[in-house]
Amino acid sequence: MSKRVLIVGGVGGGASAAARLRRLDEDAEILVFERGPFISFANCGLPYHIGGQISERKRLLIQTPESMHARFNIDVRVFTEVISINREKKTLKIKDLQAGTEYHEVYDALVLSPGAEPARPPIKGIDHPRVKTLRSIPDMDAIKRLIAEEDMGPAVVIGGGFIGLEMAEALRDRGLETILVELLDQVMAPADPEMASLLHQELRENSVDLRLGVSVTEFKDKNGQLQLVLSDGRLLDCGMAVLAIGVRPETKLAKDAGLELGQTGGIAVNASMCTSDPAIYAVGDAVEIEHFVSSAKGLVPLAGPANRQGRIAADNICGRHSEYKKTQGTAICKVFNQAFGMTGLSEKAARKQGLAFEKVYVHPASHAGYYPGASPVSLKLLFSPQDGRILGAQAVGRDGVDKRIDVLAMAMRSGLSVYELEEAELCYAPPFGSAKDVINYAGFVAANALRGDVSLCHVEDIKNIDTHQVLLDVRTPGEVAAGTIENAKPIPLDDLRARLSELDRNKEYLVFCQVGLRGYLACRILTQKGFKCRNLSGGYKTYTMVMA
Ligand code: FAD
Repeated sequence: MSKRVLIVGGVGGGASAAARLRRLDEDAEILVFERGPFISFANCGLPYHIGGQISERKRLLIQTPESMHARFNIDVRVFTEVISINREKKTLKIKDLQAGTEYHEVYDALVLSPGAEPARPPIKGIDHPRVKTLRSIPDMDAIKRLIAEEDMGPAVVIGGGFIGLEMAEALRDRGLETILVELLDQVMAPADPEMASLLHQELRENSVDLRLGVSVTEFKDKNGQLQLVLSDGRLLDCGMAVLAIGVRPETKLAKDAGLELGQTGGIAVNASMCTSDPAIYAVGDAVEIEHFVSSAKGLVPLAGPANRQGRIAADNICGRHSEYKKTQGTAICKVFNQAFGMTGLSEKAARKQGLAFEKVYVHPASHAGYYPGASPVSLKLLFSPQDGRILGAQAVGRDGVDKRIDVLAMAMRSGLSVYELEEAELCYAPPFGSAKDVINYAGFVAANALRGDVSLCHVEDIKNIDTHQVLLDVRTPGEVAAGTIENAKPIPLDDLRARLSELDRNKEYLVFCQVGLRGYLACRILTQKGFKCRNLSGGYKTYTMVMA
């Protein structure tokens, strides 16, 4: 007898599970229930339609119920909400939202992919019609309608995460005065603060009024428009506020059915994406994941994991053993002309987990400097101080961030170390890279440190400098004049050999240059001449990022 598989949620994980189920089992009866009007739409594309880069709205609609039926013979029901699960009888109670009627459907296997909803804390006035969130096509349409109003006034984005940053750019692209309010002292919370500082610069350069370290305490109506009260006492008059302060897994169905939830509030699943009930699978933003590096439990609402998990649930339902191999958190976000990408652990996550790590910063050009369009890629690499295993990476730049983070994501997945990055053979021609790619470069710097060819120091060490240590700036006088670190002794690298007599053998030299390379060369000279020294990783550029 053919099996009956019901799926709750018809977008990221749900649509992926449905299509995979059909590919594996031509006879299965597959039903998808979607509360909203659309299935399989490009939620990741919503900010880009608002901003105007994706001009046609219909391009966001990847599949329709009709096309899913024609191609996959799947019964897709939109405007249909699943109200409850009866695990004993293996039935769902379902509401047709247009007709207002309720009915039941029976299942052999159930896949939950209900996603995550935008967080809406109980702030006074939050239900004002000009306070918007962005999750669905109707949400996007509502934001577009407000933008189209004449004299809408400024727009405020609340929250500087992925969606908040994309929305800030979209609103500026629409010509609106845009204010970004963020409770933390940095945007992009998963990033380390010095990496986020490059994004702050980019936002300000693109006329986003960035307000860090403040929150909204009240939304007030002001003649039909909005007035925001901020935690610093200031008032913001605006035509719209986009609330983008994070998402919460939709777990009500699972919880009401007595399915186990994890410690972070997502639905608990095993590696087969099976919940505490063997007939029920759960995937996507609603499930709790385990981190690939730290094994910590967490919530990582990203489209790649949701799609892969949907596939894996379908495999297991069809009797193919298939396992989800944890989440790395590989992600990227465009912020005007810069991209921020990351994979694995950030420094703050590693500290929180109590994991030992070393870090390096490099700032090489995205491709050969002599070919037009090259720009720096600022890359931070975290690795194990014991064996050099890669623990995480973050990068910011105009060009080539995605490929560096993708290479590092694969290297991490394969358990590679910084020594293998030195040897990585990557594609090179002047428009695309360099004979020593950013990845090789990061590998050289990290492996040099692990082999003891050079000792590293970081801005934290410079902030805590003691009387036995001296800061040595080996850049040119012109560079020094443009800005240096307080109390640094300037000796240009090319003069260093001739001026060694000026140095004190009883001191430790904390050496820096602009990005780290000349500092390394200086340290090689100093070490071989018997001086104690360490090179500031990433040089003065990293120093300015940290101090920003
Ligand atoms: P969803 O895709 O949200 O689908 C869940 C569906 O279930 C919803 O449509 C909901 O209506 C329906 N549903 C819930 N409960 C019920 C019920 N009881 N009955 C019937 N239907 C129900 N990720 C990236 O990796 N990169 C990006 O660039 C990116 N950009 C994004 C931009 C935006 C604006 C948004 C909102 C998300 C973005 N994401 C991005 C996240 C990505 O879209 C999600 O991780 C992914 O869609 C999760 O898939 P899912 O199936 O878990 O949930």
